[in-house]
Amino acid sequence: VQTIGILGGGQLGRMLSVAASRLGLRCHIFEPGAAPAGDVAWRLTTAPYEDVDALRAFAESVDVITYEFENVPTSALDLLESIRPIRPNRRALAVSQDRLAEKTFLNDIGLATAPFADVPSESDLDAAIAAIGRPSILKTRRMGYDGKGQVRIGDGPAEWTGAPSVLEGFVDFSAEISVIIARGADGQVAAFDPGLNVHRDGILRTTTVPCGLPSKTTTDAVLIAARIANALDYIGVMGVELFFTPQGLIVNEIAPRVHNSGHWTQAGCAVDQFEQHIRAVAGLPLGDGKRYAAVAMENLIGDDLDRVPDLLRTPNVQVHLYGKGTPRPGRKMGHVNRITG
Ligand code: ATP
Ligand code: MG
Ligand code: MG
Repeated sequence: VQTIGILGGGQLGRMLSVAASRLGLRCHIFEPGAAPAGDVAWRLTTAPYEDVDALRAFAESVDVITYEFENVPTSALDLLESIRPIRPNRRALAVSQDRLAEKTFLNDIGLATAPFADVPSESDLDAAIAAIGRPSILKTRRMGYDGKGQVRIGDGPAEWTGAPSVLEGFVDFSAEISVIIARGADGQVAAFDPGLNVHRDGILRTTTVPCGLPSKTTTDAVLIAARIANALDYIGVMGVELFFTPQGLIVNEIAPRVHNSGHWTQAGCAVDQFEQHIRAVAGLPLGDGKRYAAVAMENLIGDDLDRVPDLLRTPNVQVHLYGKGTPRPGRKMGHVNRITG
């Protein structure tokens, strides 16, 4: 493999591209909108997923295709896959694109999720609330991220999301953690240490390692992630978000790609999640996933960018900026990894 195709020109595509170039590989990024962070790639194509000629030219210029964003239309994937392999595979994408398919799959392989009900339309909402109870969270089946497309249902009247949804019982968790796991083409698996995640307004604020939970719990979390990766015959890096509750671990969702909660690996590991993903999809041996430092990752969201001059002067801090231009509230502009031990 010499050239890797990446669907998506956001910050994850950018950091994948940087990791690939360190390994002597080239990246061609295909971005359907504006590519806010894709400028570091060897080649950048900005065209809609409906542009069949652009898609075909993209696929023919690369050896393997991967993605930084799971919501790629099926028609585009069908065309791309007729030309080059897509890693992680289509099943991993299909399962993680749709919260109903995702939760059903997780339960089928014996993993616990929040109780859930299918809510195809607004008229099904009352029956779903009767089945799941309150409080609960209504989430669109597709396209949601950073808490978008979600409605919390408390005691009052329930709002509708506007699209086919699932209703999830509210999980009273004491902590949120995630496992970033890699699986190679040969089935070899390497997991990074689980991180403790703190969200604000539905957006990830910080990830801290070590996560502070007992080793039995972190081992269970890694085993859960490995079970998912094996069941999907997965190739690449995957993020698995979990809730820690008194009853044990509950899987929230899976992301078939590098994950924001894995950014700490850039400062904590010899081989970070981006290089690990490139290695896996390029068919190279996986790297060492061991953690060599304690790290606190903090996202720089919107006006947090004003803190960059100070952060650049802080000794134990690694600053990552995505080159996205103007900050907007809720927009991820960069992150910092603070080495804490
Ligand atoms: P991401 O940006 O991680 O893809 P998302 O939009 O897909 O986010 P979720 O991960 O489903 O959203 O939910 C966002 C956050 O909302 C969770 O990290 C958690 O803090 C909270 N949350 C989601 N589902 C539940 C639940 N069933 N019970 C309690 N809290 C929840
Ligand atoms: Mg999500
Ligand atoms: Mg999430």
